[in-house]
Amino acid sequence: MGYFVGKEHGVGGTNPVNLSFNDFMRINAHTLGCKLNNAETSTIVEQFRSRNWEVTSDSNAANVFLLNTCSVTSNAERECRQIVRRVLRENPDAFIVVTGCYAQLRPEEIASIDGVDVVLGAKEKFNIFSNISDFIKNDTPKIFSSEIDEATDFHIAATADTSERTRAFLKVQDGCDYTCTYCTIPMARGVSRSTEINEILFEARRLSNDGFGEIVLSGVNVGDFGAKTGSSFFELVQALEFDEAVTARIRISSIEPNLLTDEIIELVASSKKFCPHFHIPLQSGSDNVLKLMQRRYNTSLYRERILKVKQVMPHCGIGVDVIVGFPGETEDDFLKSLEFLTELEISYLHVFTYSERPNTKAVTMKQPVPNDIRKKRNKQLRILSEKKLQAFYRSQIGTVATVLFEDDSKMTTTFRGGYTENYVRVVVPTKLVPLNVQTATIKLQEISDEGVVSDLIKITGVRETNTFLPILQ
Ligand code: SF4
Repeated sequence: MGYFVGKEHGVGGTNPVNLSFNDFMRINAHTLGCKLNNAETSTIVEQFRSRNWEVTSDSNAANVFLLNTCSVTSNAERECRQIVRRVLRENPDAFIVVTGCYAQLRPEEIASIDGVDVVLGAKEKFNIFSNISDFIKNDTPKIFSSEIDEATDFHIAATADTSERTRAFLKVQDGCDYTCTYCTIPMARGVSRSTEINEILFEARRLSNDGFGEIVLSGVNVGDFGAKTGSSFFELVQALEFDEAVTARIRISSIEPNLLTDEIIELVASSKKFCPHFHIPLQSGSDNVLKLMQRRYNTSLYRERILKVKQVMPHCGIGVDVIVGFPGETEDDFLKSLEFLTELEISYLHVFTYSERPNTKAVTMKQPVPNDIRKKRNKQLRILSEKKLQAFYRSQIGTVATVLFEDDSKMTTTFRGGYTENYVRVVVPTKLVPLNVQTATIKLQEISDEGVVSDLIKITGVRETNTFLPILQ
């Protein structure tokens, strides 16, 4: 263990030489990007906690600030730089560690930000303590990074912070072998890989035992689980379904349409544990654009998957990712997309504007779409998404569901909010559900701006100290 050396006015402000680490060391971590990044940050922070570091939510009080970055858009990268500069403005002695997808793709760029101490690549992000022996700020930033094709190990990760015990992200797969022409993720995270089903079951039991009400299976290309270990995503879903020690409800974060098999859909349809909710990236409703994107399906396969889901689960919530403004997307292509999405029985859209990413095939493609057109198309799809969401919510009025309460910033003194199994945002009057109530059976009554106002039928789960107690009738 090294010593902490802070400037006189630095953290602790006493004679630095006599300080021992564990007495003072606090870490603050911030995550940009996806559920996978959130799970990984949590696991890295647990490495500090297991060494008696204190985890603080205040970056000003931290000795070490860890930032887990995203590189899906140039905005994400800009945000990374802004956050580092803000933290250093308020806490100039903080030891800055940056990791994540942006760190793997452009480590030098991050290391050139004044005040950054360490940059960790994809292969190194879980080996902080074997790369850094002391968290002493120094003038020359250190980069610990390897070529992405060396990042072949799978490192499990899961939400560890039990403070709110609502939803836990469980990493089941990493990397991707697909070659979508707009995407940098394979360059940032490497080849598709996963682990043994037993390791996932072990984590899912722990998360259930820790009192999480929901486990979100997360990854880059989740449906590709087991492809290189002789198992399959369906086998994982089956194993989780029939493991009685996995008591939390389970949500699949996202799955490629070509990997959403009938057997997965049918198991979810018959399950009491898996949520009837799928998030299925489409990206475009034009076969011409799907070809340019090198996606592994066309619109008829996509339509057929949606029809299959709705046939066996009419109440299923379906979210769809769409990119607008991809190079070569003509007005006709866009109108085809709009028409295709309008006809599909889906619940909401996540609309992304195409963002040029360095070293992707798409960045060299002809016929770039002007920014004002991209903006206009994005707006049109967001309007459609709102219409779809309202229609989906209307179709759920009068139904009975289980809500998992999320005491987040959206909670008001009037209502507590959360999501049903099929991903309807619902609210229940706070006076009916005290803060220790984690789950309840409700009847959906009326759409409001906060969500669907619902009547309480019965409380089905409460949080007692550090566990979750289902109320058995
Ligand atoms: S499936 Fe395509 S878009 Fe998704 S991570 Fe892989 S390459 Fe990227």
